[in-house]
Amino acid sequence: FTTEKSLRILMLGLDGAGKTTILYKLKLGELVTTIPTIGFNVEQVTFKSISFTIWDVGGQMRIRALWKYYFQNTQALIYVVDSSDVDRIEEAKEELHAILNDPEMSDTKLLVFANKQDLPNSLTSAQLTERLGLQAMRGRTWFIQSSNAKTAEGIFEGLAWLEQNLR
Ligand code: GDP
Repeated sequence: FTTEKSLRILMLGLDGAGKTTILYKLKLGELVTTIPTIGFNVEQVTFKSISFTIWDVGGQMRIRALWKYYFQNTQALIYVVDSSDVDRIEEAKEELHAILNDPEMSDTKLLVFANKQDLPNSLTSAQLTERLGLQAMRGRTWFIQSSNAKTAEGIFEGLAWLEQNLR
């Protein structure tokens, strides 16, 4: 990212999707894990004027109301999906749409990583587009990128799209 603007980027997804692996591949610095009084694990790293915040979504209905604080002033959502975890695609979809329906997220750009493309039986990005209901979204700037977080394949392509679209 070559921007001087300060940016807030959220990276969310179900547990095990690959969020932490992606963040480490970016080599931005030390991840700081905090467990705020609100009771869910939040990891944060700030690189120049860009802050990345990540947490696991799913199975946390009780604390969802508390996410809003983190939604404010968020320019981009990176949503990471384990493309091989077919059993939880529906849950990943529901969480994604719940997040995007928050009024604070109405202008947020969406980058989806169709991660774990190296695993057998993983859904393609086209299949994930369908299963996540991405085409049906209205008024959203979005992009889906296939990735393998372990080798970093696709990660920089995805971020390059984001950079272009945050100008
Ligand atoms: P998080 O809970 O979303 O932060 O997920 P992690 O980054 O901790 O990843 C969960 C597990 O999936 C770890 O064992 C990672 O090494 C593995 N993993 C992450 N990305 C990939 C990928 O693209 N391919 C494969 N095969 N494994 C991955």
